[in-house]
This record gives sequence, C-alpha cells and structure tokens, in this order.
Amino acid sequence: MTLEIKNITKSYDNTMVLHDISIVLESGVYGLLGANGSGKTTLMRIICGVIKANVGSIIYNGENMNEKPDSFRSILGFLPQDFRYYPDFTGLKFLLYMAALKGLDNKMAKEKCNDLVHLVGLEDVKNKKIKKYSGGMKQRLGIAQAMINDPKVLILDEPTVGLDPKERVRFRNLISSFSKEKIIILSTHIVSDVEYIADEILILNNRKIENRGSAIELVKEIEGQVWECVVQPASAREMRTKYVVSNEKHEAEGMILRIVSNEQPTENAKKVQPTLEDLYLYYLQEEVVK
Ligand code: ADP
Repeated sequence: MTLEIKNITKSYDNTMVLHDISIVLESGVYGLLGANGSGKTTLMRIICGVIKANVGSIIYNGENMNEKPDSFRSILGFLPQDFRYYPDFTGLKFLLYMAALKGLDNKMAKEKCNDLVHLVGLEDVKNKKIKKYSGGMKQRLGIAQAMINDPKVLILDEPTVGLDPKERVRFRNLISSFSKEKIIILSTHIVSDVEYIADEILILNNRKIENRGSAIELVKEIEGQVWECVVQPASAREMRTKYVVSNEKHEAEGMILRIVSNEQPTENAKKVQPTLEDLYLYYLQEEVVK
C-alpha cells in the first residue's frame, strides 16, 4: 500500500502555503508536525480531495486520485478539525446517520456502528446525547465516523486538541490499536502527541516537509548540540536573542537554559541528550536565530 503526495504546491491569494511537496507513505502511523499556520490542514484537505492543489497529484497504489475521486473516497476516512456533531443525537444515532450518508445498508450499518462504539470505548454512553460527551468522547466518536467505511487511509486533523492528559493517553492507545494495514496521518502542533504514537514524523516547515523519520532518527541530527547552562536572569534575555532556547527553569543558582547550538554557549554549559522538542524548536526558530 502506498500513498504518494507528488509535487503538491498550494497558494491562497498569491501567498504560497505549500511548495512542491513530494513524499511517499506506506502503511503506518505518520505524525504531521508543524506550527499553527504552517499548512497542515491545507495539506490534509488536499490529500482528501476537499480542496485542490495548484500543482501536483495524490497517487494511491499507482492510481491518480484526482482522476478518481469517488474510488478514493471509498478507501478514505477523515476527521476534520472543525468536525460538526449534532448535539441532540445520541452517539450511536449519529454514527448510524453517518453510515447512511456513506451508503451502508441498514443491517450492515447497525453491525458496523455497534462494533465501532465498542472499538472506540463509547459502549457505555452510546445512547447518551452527544452534548453530554466530554471532549475526548467526541473525538473518539469523530474517529469512529471516520472508520465507518473501514478506510485504508485515515486522516485526522489535530485530533488531540482540547483533550486532557488522560484522554490523550486513551486516544494514543486507540490509534495504535488499529494502525496495521492502514496509512494513518495525524496532524498536531504538540510534539508529545506524535513522539510516542507515530512510526514516522513529518516536519512541515517553510512550506515543505523539512525532515521525516522516527523520533530517534530525527533527534540524531542535533546530537551533541543541546546544552544546559546556568545564567543570571539579566543575561537570559541576550541569550534568547542569540540562541534557540528550548526550555528555561528558575533555580536558586540562577536560570537554567536549555539551548540548541553547534557551539558551546557558555563556559559552564553541559551537553545533554536531545529530544524531539529541541529539534522541533530548532526548526521553528532557525529563521530567527541562524
Ligand atoms: P495549520 O493547519 O498548520 O494551522 P492551515 O493549513 O490552516 O495551517 O493554514 C496555512 C496558511 O494558509 C495560514 O496562513 C492560513 O491563514 C492560510 N489559509 C488557510 N486557509 C485559507 C483560505 N481558505 N484562504 C486564505 N488563506 C488560507
């Protein structure tokens, strides 16, 4: 199974958001990581055929999906960021309604929707109105509706926004449970959401996929370049303009700055193990600092 995103370029009103993006994905979970406004939603909408790219194509198993939107839709599941629920519907009724829209016959729809509420852990509340659901329950219902047609490609746009830590864990476990034989792409601007769940991370920055790889592979890029040093608060401001500061802590001896830099920032700076968060901030701030 392959999904090829080929030479995708997209502009809105003469402002280019995505520039000549080409990546090939195989089955697995992909975390599309990028700052707010970096173009994640745009890219996901293009993959799903909701909006058109100015240039480029989406190719699934060798077939150009721009030319076959209906056949692609049948293997695609999508949870958009602004997904609308009907608050007065029960979770189960909502899924049955979505199943009818997707063309499932009654008997199949009932079976499928009951299986799905079980799978996403909404069995106990399936007959409750959606307006009584927590944020996490709504997100899981959103995933269930995206799974109705048993999609091969599942696209989830910022699925963890608004979830509390417990709901996040539950969400991660859910995604990991059905990652086999599917291409799952989930977007986020929160590093920890993709660090543990994604097989591969795609970093969207400067209108392109700047890097891809597992968290371990990616952080190797800044191995030996992450430092912790103690500075006095007065010099912290200058350090911030000079270096990528990925974290700051106030301690009795001064401020502890975590810095990504290929040179030792201060005499007392000690090398520390890089994290994905360091790398991500390094990418985001490179225009400012480098
Ligand atoms: P993300 O999902 O990473 O937050 P988006 O894809 O939503 O990013 O947006 C990328 C950029 O494109 C932003 O600057 C946004 O303001 C702009 N944008 C998104 N949709 C439109 C649109 N329909 N018309 C004009 N500009 C848009």
